[in-house]
Amino acid sequence: MGEDGYFDYAATVPPYPEALKRFEELSLRAFGNPSSSHDDGRQAREALDGARKGFLARVGFADGSLVLTSGATEANNLALRSALEASSDGRLLLASDAHPSAWFTRETWPKRTDLIKTGTDGLISPDWLATLLSKKTAMVSIVHANNETGVVQDLKALGAVCEKAGVPLHVDGVQALGRLPLTLSELPFAYYTFSAHKFGGSRGVGGIIARREGLSAQIRGGGQEKGLRGGTENVAGLAAALVALDLSARSLEAEVPRLRKLAALLTGEIQAAIPDVLVNSRPEGVPGLVSFSFPNLIGEEIVVEMNLRGFAISAGSACGSGRMEPSRPVMAMGRTRAQALGTVRISMGRFTTEDAVRRLAAALRQVVEKQKALA
Ligand code: PLP
Repeated sequence: MGEDGYFDYAATVPPYPEALKRFEELSLRAFGNPSSSHDDGRQAREALDGARKGFLARVGFADGSLVLTSGATEANNLALRSALEASSDGRLLLASDAHPSAWFTRETWPKRTDLIKTGTDGLISPDWLATLLSKKTAMVSIVHANNETGVVQDLKALGAVCEKAGVPLHVDGVQALGRLPLTLSELPFAYYTFSAHKFGGSRGVGGIIARREGLSAQIRGGGQEKGLRGGTENVAGLAAALVALDLSARSLEAEVPRLRKLAALLTGEIQAAIPDVLVNSRPEGVPGLVSFSFPNLIGEEIVVEMNLRGFAISAGSACGSGRMEPSRPVMAMGRTRAQALGTVRISMGRFTTEDAVRRLAAALRQVVEKQKALA
């Protein structure tokens, strides 16, 4: 397919070679176990401490703490399970556009998880959130930037509501960190989760940036990460994530306007060619992420056809138990099932060119017209 046809940066970002080089170099040089008390262990411990400190400084939150995990799925589990397991009756307020790694609480604790509706624009109203909070609320969990629609919440306003009520706020920051200019010390959260492969680091590396205590270990073992996450630390993975974050953060000034322009170009071309298309993404959302719903079509079928034409995109719907399930974040915006099933997500990044966007738009138009004729 090649870098040119890759339009799935929200699923994973091609790693920066510089980050992989750092991974290899550090794995070979500081190979010791950070828990060992000999010189090799100490060297690995120093590398880990340095990467942790550097990462926190890079996200603009040198005073925070960072619990290293195997990615954001584990990090979200750690934050939410800690809150729900702390008492027998504390309740979770969960955003209705939550990623499956937070949504599982609806199945595990159905009687203790309440939903925060998003509006038809995908946004959570701070006033609405205030009405949902109660003495029983153990945690509020929201998605900073939605992985399917790219909608970015007003974290400052939502955090202020939680702060006033003294309720910890968990933010799934996976699609925001490295894609939006952020200074985390300015944002009012208790826990902010991230994943390195979403900004050009390696997979299996993520964590929680914490402003307060209150987490309890979900993976127990040798007491690593101050007892909050057992398992030998992925020292090189965190060091590589820091390199990737640094490179993506430095590119933002040029990349944000460039990707926004490309997203506007694609949106305009598709709206002109296919008048009944619904656009779920917003111009001020995640740069370069566009979400379309084509009513009465099946997103997954469009993805397959686009793949044959050399383009990697993704569908919001998923096949669960043999039946197509519509995109939840798109349904949460008030779309019907027939509209939401026809959702595709196109997400761009550092290798995306204007020429490729024009070719993708032409291919998408052909595919949609063909599927409409068959429907
Ligand atoms: N949260 C959001 C919003 C995501 O987009 C993803 C990845 O798709 C995750 C969590 C899970 O991240 P990971 O792949 O590190 O488990």
